[in-house]
Amino acid sequence: MKELLVISGKGGTGKTVVTGAFASLAENTVIVDCDVDAADLHLLLSPTVKEAHLFKSGLQPVIDEERCTRCGTCRTVCRFDAVTPKLSISHIDCEGCGFCANACPEQAIEMIENVSGEWYISETRYGPFVHAKLGIAEENSGKLVTLVKQQARSVAEESGSDLILIDGSPGIGCPVIASLAGVDCAVVVTEPTISGLHDAGRVIEVAKHFDVPVKVVVNKFDLNEEMTQKTEEYCRNNGIAVLGKIPFCESVVRATVEGKTVVEYDHGEAKPAIVKIWKTLEEELGV
Ligand code: SF4
Ligand code: SF4
Repeated sequence: MKELLVISGKGGTGKTVVTGAFASLAENTVIVDCDVDAADLHLLLSPTVKEAHLFKSGLQPVIDEERCTRCGTCRTVCRFDAVTPKLSISHIDCEGCGFCANACPEQAIEMIENVSGEWYISETRYGPFVHAKLGIAEENSGKLVTLVKQQARSVAEESGSDLILIDGSPGIGCPVIASLAGVDCAVVVTEPTISGLHDAGRVIEVAKHFDVPVKVVVNKFDLNEEMTQKTEEYCRNNGIAVLGKIPFCESVVRATVEGKTVVEYDHGEAKPAIVKIWKTLEEELGV
């Protein structure tokens, strides 16, 4: 069983469009959305949720109003200004350190497990789909990514899948590092702009640091042929294969609006380019 991760140095490069298209083309695959901060692969795959689970992470304080004498100590000691003047807890500001609970003279504060998101095992027209949703302003996205990947591996083992196809997060933060763990190949989707190349370079360095083989796809390459050449030159100089280039194509937007993958939406020049890229990947991964 192989694991293929699709990432990008920044948002908006077409990473999820490419992952959705790969999902249409792959066979015997478990699909995973590890972009837990801004999950959107489900918009293309229309999953039917089979299992939903809470994601608990960290602790949060709860004040027992009956015991509380409103002395204000918790507000005084909180370094994060998370206790409001009315002595309620702002869960957006609270870091869950528990100092207020220790300091409360009435033992009126209990630290309880924080539910910071949900994760799901679903079915799609292209096979099982493991995905998650992190709550607003919640942290620990790397931990949730690790959990989602573990679940995907279990589903893949049970179903005898050949491939785990993962939509990663943009950027180079904690969820991306968690996404990279144990994958056989990372495909970096970039666009032909100065910032696109800069950000792709950063995520490529992160992947290399973790010894993950990297390949590059240039999306909307024909919008700036000069930057596309610079991207190819960068890849050549760094020993990275460019898997292919996808032309700008309005049908990509139309397909997304209709909730279809580019491969399902049978128009435009992007589809044959992505099919060609997928065939190369299939051969190289041996799936
Ligand atoms: S420290 Fe305890 S008793 Fe004092 S205001 Fe806070 S919760 Fe209430
Ligand atoms: S747990 Fe820490 S951050 Fe949260 S309210 Fe208490 S002292 Fe402030």
